[in-house]
Amino acid sequence: MKKLKIRMKAGQRYKKVTRGLHNSGFRGEIRLFEEMKGRTSIKIGGPADIFIIPASGNDLKKLLEYLSQQNIPYHILGRGTNILVSDQGVRGLVIQVGRASAEITFNGNQVMAEAGVALARLARLAGERGLSGLEFGAGIPGTVGGAVIMNAGCQGEDISCIIKRVRTFHPDAGVKDWAPEDCRFGYRSSRFRKDGGIVLEAEFELRRDRPLLIKKRMDDILARRKAVLPLEYPSAGSIFKNPPGDFAGRLIDAVGLKGKRAGGAQISEKHANVIINLGSARATEVEELIALAREKVKEMFGVELELEIEIWS
Ligand SMILES: Cc1cc2nc3c(=O)[nH]c(=O)nc-3n(C[C@H](O)[C@H](O)[C@H](O)COP(=O)(O)OP(=O)(O)OC[C@H]3O[C@@H](n4cnc5c(N)ncnc54)[C@H](O)[C@@H]3O)c2cc1C
Repeated sequence: MKKLKIRMKAGQRYKKVTRGLHNSGFRGEIRLFEEMKGRTSIKIGGPADIFIIPASGNDLKKLLEYLSQQNIPYHILGRGTNILVSDQGVRGLVIQVGRASAEITFNGNQVMAEAGVALARLARLAGERGLSGLEFGAGIPGTVGGAVIMNAGCQGEDISCIIKRVRTFHPDAGVKDWAPEDCRFGYRSSRFRKDGGIVLEAEFELRRDRPLLIKKRMDDILARRKAVLPLEYPSAGSIFKNPPGDFAGRLIDAVGLKGKRAGGAQISEKHANVIINLGSARATEVEELIALAREKVKEMFGVELELEIEIWS
């Protein structure tokens, strides 16, 4: 009853925001109290107060302009494959940059993709056109926007190897194009992860190769990933970054935590740097395993494990 009353009060408050959005010309979808467990790959998370799905890339841009003018804060979500949302959910606005922001334009060896394009789809489409360089993205389940923010990669390659230009929106500076050397890409990081830039689109410089050879490389990558990752369970991929010269998974395995459970969450038996949801895991249970892994690894190896995933509350 108390929860319902709080929600009704919040609902009144949020009506004002949604009215403002509609009046600003926003054409996309606005949902109240959207369960984030349906919006994240690990299938965990309570409600987002206001969940917004823009209708197009242009709609997203206008929405961001409106929110900065009004000084309204927000979270940006791609496909939710690198996020753990708390069981209480997220207060305020969550904007999903997804399917509606998904234009792709090929031009010679270059391809421009809007932020909501799935990286794996882009890799496949480029490969079919005989464009090589995105093979590493074939098994990464996020969006182009999320991949740029995170400088996503695998097996020694990442977004920084092929990026030509990034277009962002910054609340204080509007729309801006960035050359690769200005993006400050690092291991699972970019300047935008720190400065709050919203990725609107990215352009990649690829190389010509035979489609069959590209497909073979992608198939090999996918097969290797299937062999070592627990892809049959919901997860957020690697929980921790690899410390310099080592692997987080090796350290967690070495302290004996492979297979360790907390309620419905488990440190995967297949890959110790992945926590899987066995069906009804709560965020607190995942956090319990995260804290345990950190504590034991610090105790035994003196290594501080740094989170790769983000925790939203
Ligand atoms: C099974 C599995 C395997 C994985 N394997 C890999 C791997 O091999 N290599 C790897 O690097 N990662 C891997 N990941 C992690 C994840 O897929 C990547 O980090 C991905 O790039 C996140 O993209 P996303 O769209 O899901 O972003 P989200 O998880 O939705 O968001 C991640 C961060 O990016 C921000 N963000 C998203 N879109 C935008 C945007 N347009 N503008 C500004 N900020 C934005 C969010 O606010 C958040 O801070 C894996 C995940 C899973 C579940």
